[in-house]
Amino acid sequence: MSSTTQAEIQVVPGKKAKKLKPARKQVKPGEVEKKEAPQTGKEYNIWYNKWAGGDREDSYSNKVKSQTRCNIKRDSGMTRANTTGVKYCCLFFARGCCPYGWECEYLHTLPDPSQSVPDTSKDCFARDKFADYRDDMGGVGSFQRQNRTLYVGRIKETGTGPETEEVVRRHFKEWGEIEKIRVLQYRSVAFVTYVHEGHAQFAKEAMACQSLDNDEILNVRWATEDPNPTSKVEERERLEAMGREAIQAKMDPRIIDAVRAVRALEEGVELDDEPEIEEDEDAPPTKRRKLELEDAESTPELPEEPPQPKGLLSADTLESLKYFTEIRQRSGAANGAAKVAPKPPPPTGLGLGGYGSDEDD
Ligand SMILES: [Zn+2]
Repeated sequence: MSSTTQAEIQVVPGKKAKKLKPARKQVKPGEVEKKEAPQTGKEYNIWYNKWAGGDREDSYSNKVKSQTRCNIKRDSGMTRANTTGVKYCCLFFARGCCPYGWECEYLHTLPDPSQSVPDTSKDCFARDKFADYRDDMGGVGSFQRQNRTLYVGRIKETGTGPETEEVVRRHFKEWGEIEKIRVLQYRSVAFVTYVHEGHAQFAKEAMACQSLDNDEILNVRWATEDPNPTSKVEERERLEAMGREAIQAKMDPRIIDAVRAVRALEEGVELDDEPEIEEDEDAPPTKRRKLELEDAESTPELPEEPPQPKGLLSADTLESLKYFTEIRQRSGAANGAAKVAPKPPPPTGLGLGGYGSDEDD
């Protein structure tokens, strides 16, 4: 996003009338020991124009307890981002170690779902997502699927399942509204689903290598896809609804199309040339798209509408789509299944095999 949107963010009227205090400086410069990512050549870079490094998911860093933790109530507030219109959150704020406070160029608040960034290729920290998840389900995640569920491993369970759930909820609700929590008792694992994807992204950073009540060092990853067909359908409907809302909010419709197209590829749906899009190349695509969607809304059942690549997707997007198809064909992944993990899938189907070393501690 360019800086042409300057200042428009602060004029948003209405419900967000609450004044923010200036953000607190969470740490003094130099206060945090640079233990992370030792001798990997990756810089733990506290300078804001560079997001490289600081990956806490390699096998060493992932087992070192985080030295800092964000406290939303105490730490959040206004930063320069609130005046410049930057809509991305500060990664270091989420990790509890931003020394800049109100002078930071990024937001020191939770991601605001009502103003979510239209660019689905980035997470709430402006980091680029990838075509596919890493084998260990760490990292920024994929733009092919909206993921609101975190895998939380290495929990020290001291009570029953419901007790563990209470503990997990208490710690994770700080980062956004939780839709559901599923605890796998005796397996040190819980799945936490947020209502909004941005909050899951934030929580993943905020809770990485933190403790719950028992001085554990959590292993927080993206959850693999819920295999339950009902949830899949629900998720698709939810995304469709969001897409419509997004377009009505005048977001770039090409992005929505691209997401649809990718999903269609993933599911092996044929991309037909839709005859209903015709000659009129001059009409702005936004309008055309909007009309279509209004139509679609009045119809009770929105059919699995195949995306229409012709004229709506940029050449770049088409290229990327082809590229994904190729990758999929090459890896033989027919159905959006998780990428081939080095280990065979566990017999229970709970999908714990890919998350790294929760069982070999
Ligand atoms: Zn910051």
